[in-house]
Amino acid sequence: MNQTEINLLIVEDEPKVASFIKRGLEESGYIAEVAFDGAIGSKMAEARTYDLIILDVNLPYKNGIELCNEIRQKNQKLPILMLTALGTTEDKLVGFDAGADDYLVKPFEFRELLARVRSLLKRNTQAETNQRKLTFLDLEMNLDTYEVVRGGKNIEMTQKEFALLEYLLKNKNRVLTRVDIAEKVWDISFDTGTNVIDVYVNFLRKKIDKDFSPKLIHTQTGIGYILKAGKDES
Ligand code: CA
Repeated sequence: MNQTEINLLIVEDEPKVASFIKRGLEESGYIAEVAFDGAIGSKMAEARTYDLIILDVNLPYKNGIELCNEIRQKNQKLPILMLTALGTTEDKLVGFDAGADDYLVKPFEFRELLARVRSLLKRNTQAETNQRKLTFLDLEMNLDTYEVVRGGKNIEMTQKEFALLEYLLKNKNRVLTRVDIAEKVWDISFDTGTNVIDVYVNFLRKKIDKDFSPKLIHTQTGIGYILKAGKDES
């Protein structure tokens, strides 16, 4: 793993603690940014892609628990390490309930924090490689669990729709003819009398494109279909 490419966000309102963590992480080769309250933390987490978030529980404007909940609704995988000053059982439970992956009780030594950060980053990388997933922009399909998610929203699919989307995603940015699709997805040779492919492409569009932008499934007139990020068509 190339550490220079790992971005961390620290949401911590105590300037001394924040700069202590930031400095330590930077010295360890990470890129670290600080938000000094929960509202700014929320904006930063939304605007950028971080590899891990270190989140204090007691924060102005929006507390760490709320923020953790909010981040989890959009991103299931992002590792979140909570910092708590109190260290009571309740605090830990609330944090885990909100979706935190680990917690650390203040005051702590930097090497403790670093160990947690490393372990969370490693766990996340392993989880990624253990699952077979196809992704394109904000669309993600898990070939092991049959889950399809776009923009953080779960999308229910029939088996054929799933197979069609899998084929389109595996061949993203390539025009696929109706003949290709019929053979690979339906296991039939193309019959010009049937519009089954167009029907299923429309089913799929309703599910993964209708409420989202940009549209991903595009018609290549006279040829077939292509999955790409393109201008929206009606
Ligand atoms: Ca605090």
